[in-house]
Amino acid sequence: MRTFTGPHTLYSFVMRQKRAGKRIGLVPTMGYLHEGHLSLIKKAHIDTDCVIVSIFVNPIQFGQGEDLAAYPRNIARDKKLAKIAGADAVFIPSAESMYPPDYSVYVTERNLSKRWCGEHRQGHFTGVCTVVLRLFSVCAPDCAYFGQKDIQQALIIQKMAIDLFLPVSVVLCPIIREHDGLAMSSRNVYLSPSERLDALVLYKALTHAVARFKEGIFSAGQLTGEMNAVIQTASSARIEYIACVDGKTLEPVETLSSGCRILLAVRIGTTRLIDNILL
Ligand code: AMP
Repeated sequence: MRTFTGPHTLYSFVMRQKRAGKRIGLVPTMGYLHEGHLSLIKKAHIDTDCVIVSIFVNPIQFGQGEDLAAYPRNIARDKKLAKIAGADAVFIPSAESMYPPDYSVYVTERNLSKRWCGEHRQGHFTGVCTVVLRLFSVCAPDCAYFGQKDIQQALIIQKMAIDLFLPVSVVLCPIIREHDGLAMSSRNVYLSPSERLDALVLYKALTHAVARFKEGIFSAGQLTGEMNAVIQTASSARIEYIACVDGKTLEPVETLSSGCRILLAVRIGTTRLIDNILL
């Protein structure tokens, strides 16, 4: 597996692969890899001939007071895991090479980004779109892989690819969970043992809603109220939002139907967790 830190050397590598007829798969990550990330790398390895995993804690997608400085990092371990999962190259750029001092172009999606995480993390999705477009330019991927764990992000990237005519297929992959249902996340490492137990309320609330939906409860208000009660059972939990939405537009719905999604953002102590489920 090759390691690249500069965009120019990676781009030369990519062009050589393309000339050899290879299809490029890209898996953008912020590192501290877990089985969720590895599932994307494995899928890319099945679909394409040359898998690039980027590891970059993107400063411009963090707001003031967020966890940029504290974000967990372990590059040596990440490289080993990426290689075992099927990566052919890792791209680990410096912040300076991604954003030189005179950097001035940003990409903003204006519809899907308005609500939910976009509302609570101002500027976050502009940071995400900008870094992903930059990674697409350097890696020229045929396919790029994103997790449904961050469904709003994944749909925004898909829309960016459509609206900007980017020649990349954006592949959405299933959410990978711990054995007890907690969605895997690099941020789970912040949780104390008691918070780790409290964090189970996210998945409990989502599965409760699915069970009630299957019983014939379709009212978003009713289900949101019940999920609220499930989450309140955890003393360290503070709800940021619970949203019943259309699965494609992420606009709120009053009546749930198959294909809708329920989205959650909850703080467990100081750790912000998100999760969602498709009905
Ligand atoms: P991150 O390193 O958190 O920015 O995530 C990098 C990619 O991995 C994103 O496309 C995420 O949606 C995806 N991802 C993170 N956690 C999971 C998970 N539990 N299951 C599936 N994909 C995930």
